[in-house]
Amino acid sequence: MIAGPVAFLVAVAVAMAVTDQEPASVLRHLYLVPTLWAALARGAVGGGSIGAVAGLLHAPVALPAVERAGLTSATLDGLLSLGLPLVAGLLVGRLVDGSRARAARLAAVLAIQRGLDGAGALDDKLLSVAGELRAALGARRLALLVGTDVRTAQIASGPVGSLVDVGSAAAFALASGQRVSSLDLRADPRVRADEPPGPTPLRALALPLVSGVGVVGVLAVEWSGDLSRSTRAAADELALHVGLAVENARLTLRQLRFAEELAEKVAAATARLRELDQAKSEFLSVVSHELRTPLTALQGFSELLLRSALPPDKAHRCLVYLHTEACALGRIVGELLDLSRIEVGRPLELRPERVDLDELMERNVELFAAEHREHRFRWTPSGPAVTLRADPDALDRMVKNLLSNAVKYSPRGGQVSLSACPAEDQPGMVELAVEDDGVGIPPEQLPRIFDKYVRVPHPETATTRGLGLGLSLVKALAEAHGGRVEVDSLPGKGSRFRLLLPGVDRDF
Ligand code: ADP
Repeated sequence: MIAGPVAFLVAVAVAMAVTDQEPASVLRHLYLVPTLWAALARGAVGGGSIGAVAGLLHAPVALPAVERAGLTSATLDGLLSLGLPLVAGLLVGRLVDGSRARAARLAAVLAIQRGLDGAGALDDKLLSVAGELRAALGARRLALLVGTDVRTAQIASGPVGSLVDVGSAAAFALASGQRVSSLDLRADPRVRADEPPGPTPLRALALPLVSGVGVVGVLAVEWSGDLSRSTRAAADELALHVGLAVENARLTLRQLRFAEELAEKVAAATARLRELDQAKSEFLSVVSHELRTPLTALQGFSELLLRSALPPDKAHRCLVYLHTEACALGRIVGELLDLSRIEVGRPLELRPERVDLDELMERNVELFAAEHREHRFRWTPSGPAVTLRADPDALDRMVKNLLSNAVKYSPRGGQVSLSACPAEDQPGMVELAVEDDGVGIPPEQLPRIFDKYVRVPHPETATTRGLGLGLSLVKALAEAHGGRVEVDSLPGKGSRFRLLLPGVDRDF
């Protein structure tokens, strides 16, 4: 690029030499052409050097003329022509340099914005932005720190997870929020330098990255040797852009994450609704079946009693069946009534009174033991009598539900253990536990079993009757008493349900 202006320069010098050799010759103006050409092509260095050479080439014409004719307007004009190309070359060259630097900064800003745009990990994007910045500033080293706290801020331009050195200029800038401009970093008292001072000063800038929410990081740059004012200004300008771009990128990422979370939640809620819908349809068919079974038995046995004169022992057996099925029907209707009350958000009606827990448990154990001969029932009463303030009917329903589940879900028989005592880990609460060694519940189903309509399929209990409502009612009743129900279970080993209710000195 410089060969053209040089050739032009030589041509002008030759033309001057072979023509009139006058210091004020019009040809001298032609020296400006290669000078401006070089300035446009190579900036101040190119324009200045070609301008200086042009002046030197004109000197053998302009200086002897001054000697010969003294200071006339023509010789003064010639003298002026010695310096004019140099001045013009430097001025135009500097303008060119300035606009090139501005264009480079603009390109760097665009590259930063493009680099931080779109999806992808912020760490990767910051790493490439740090590379762009280093190239744009012609720096020896550059570090991009992201974070607001010196102890946790990460060096985005270093290996993932690298933390900032607390004695560095960057840490100083981050902690103080002030820019650090150091003429020699290795001799700067504010900084604990990792290298001893050397012959070449280490210029450095640590510029806080400021966004709308305050300081979000630091741009730290090192140069060996001189650092021009324009590079300094460029670093300041780029730090401003990086601060805003980092914050923008963070906001975008946060929005993306939020949108993803929202989509996941909506998908989960939709799936849950679909599940519930399906469960409700299944529930309706189960309810009809559950109602039909005792009704059929009631019809059959009552007809038998009406139509035939049965001997007293057979008639008694029929009456026992009738009673059992009527109780089953009563239980189902009770559960459905409770459910409808919960569904419409009406509180469960409780009539709390002092309840002797031991008496209630013994009664139920006797009842179940009489009905389920294939199970062994073991009742461990608490040492001193435990008294509760509870609705006796609700408490009875909770105990019956847990006991009937313990029996239903241990189809091969086995032991059902009951205990009541003050809860050791819950001061002021009474613990009532029902444990079986039945089929157990898989861990992934445990969180669902207290939901309405949920029944856990198991080959051994496929024909077991139930609406999937018992535990949800136990939970609702326990909570209405200010307590709760918990479960521990292992598939194939058994389950232990723990009902925790406030002791007698508690109000609810
Ligand atoms: P269901 O009328 O089906 O018994 P529940 O709400 O009482 O309804 O129980 C929900 C589900 O939890 C049952 O279908 C069963 O799969 C499981 N379950 C409850 N109790 C036990 C238990 N003691 N052992 C094993 N599984 C149980």
